[in-house]
Amino acid sequence: MNEKISRFLFYPIWELISSRSTVKFYTTLRNLEKTQWLDKKELEKVQEVKLFNLLKHAYKNVPYYTHLFDKLGIKPQNIKKKEDLQKLPILTKELIRENFQDLLARNRKPNSYQLDHTGGSTGKVLDFYRDLKSREYALAINRRFWRWAGYDIGTKILRIWGSPSDINKYDNIRTRLHFKLTNSMILNSFEMGETQLGEYAEKFQEFRPKIVHGYANAVYLFAQYIDKNKLAFNKPKSVITTSEKLYPYQRKLIERVFGCKVFEEYGCREMDLIAHECESHDGMHVANEKYILEFMYDGNHKTSPRIGSIILTDLENYAMPFIRYKNEDMASLMQNDCRCGRKLDKISYITGRITDFLIGTNGNRVSGAAVTPFFAKLRGINEFRIVQEHKDVVRVMLVRSKTVDPTISPSINKFLKKFLGDRMHIKLEFCRKIPKLKSGKMRIIINEMRGRRT
Ligand SMILES: [Zn+2]
Repeated sequence: MNEKISRFLFYPIWELISSRSTVKFYTTLRNLEKTQWLDKKELEKVQEVKLFNLLKHAYKNVPYYTHLFDKLGIKPQNIKKKEDLQKLPILTKELIRENFQDLLARNRKPNSYQLDHTGGSTGKVLDFYRDLKSREYALAINRRFWRWAGYDIGTKILRIWGSPSDINKYDNIRTRLHFKLTNSMILNSFEMGETQLGEYAEKFQEFRPKIVHGYANAVYLFAQYIDKNKLAFNKPKSVITTSEKLYPYQRKLIERVFGCKVFEEYGCREMDLIAHECESHDGMHVANEKYILEFMYDGNHKTSPRIGSIILTDLENYAMPFIRYKNEDMASLMQNDCRCGRKLDKISYITGRITDFLIGTNGNRVSGAAVTPFFAKLRGINEFRIVQEHKDVVRVMLVRSKTVDPTISPSINKFLKKFLGDRMHIKLEFCRKIPKLKSGKMRIIINEMRGRRT
């Protein structure tokens, strides 16, 4: 399919059939293309207007917020700026579960929102309502983000993506047709054994995508396969990695193998894409037109720059307003001006879910980012996963190649005990394959203990 035909003919027709307005979409996108260059003060003004409207709506139409404001003795007009948001408590996943129906806006028609749920990567699924109007706005944001990486509708894109439930969706004719006409190809990230990787490589060579998009670990695995087998192919324009933390060693290999730059993106199911790397490749810019970003620091992370829990206010979701929502991811706010000139907030060091921390017998919390470079450098280890099973037991799963350094066990023991304390029992387990999680994602650090809340 010709790129231009896909973009200018097929896409508007498809949107029309799906009852979405292309005109409205492009108006939003054009506006977002402008607002990304606003200075800090102007961006804050955009947020303040949206915040006030959202709070007014929430107070009037969402029982949870009506009760909350009344209980606190405040009115929406008492919250004028981002700083004033601190007058409101944090919205946790537990609070959403407890107040689920009361968080739904009473003035919204049932066809204006959809029930959705998170993938349960923290061990528990969270139900929520997605505002369909907000979803349209999010799509325009996504497009702006991907344009930074050189994508537009019709650009050939290969996606390594999907959990088993999503893949079933791709099997239906309508979705397959949509993929064909938008020049997209999808590869199932859940099946990435050697045989499948061989098939994927053939498809990749034949399809010649300009953009490769996928789960960070899946793209990394694919790049490793291409590298190992010394396959020749047409170089894409860029690679976009998503859903999982991309470690520097992974970025290095992906960029070398694909011969192009990697753009990391960050989002969560409850809110869509939140942040994306720009062409300066120095952190990820937050879409401040949709999200007010705050951080909560608990004092346990003494790293510099400080890592904190992400707190988000979604300025577009009116069906179920997420005001000061703690999504249980952690990151740090970058203070430096970006070379690209955008003043949108910039974050880095997303450390994955909070469950992806190991907790030492000495009380130390260790993020995956701190331990993975050590494992990545181990000679003879192809893949690894670290699972904290109990407060004093950590299981290290390792997939080794034929030649492995005999001193590997004592050195892993020594390394982990340095972070996690001498009383931590380290179990090493050599296996042939590391199983994927239910969602199809591969997590390098899993803390089962926190998931069980013990
Ligand atoms: Zn930038």
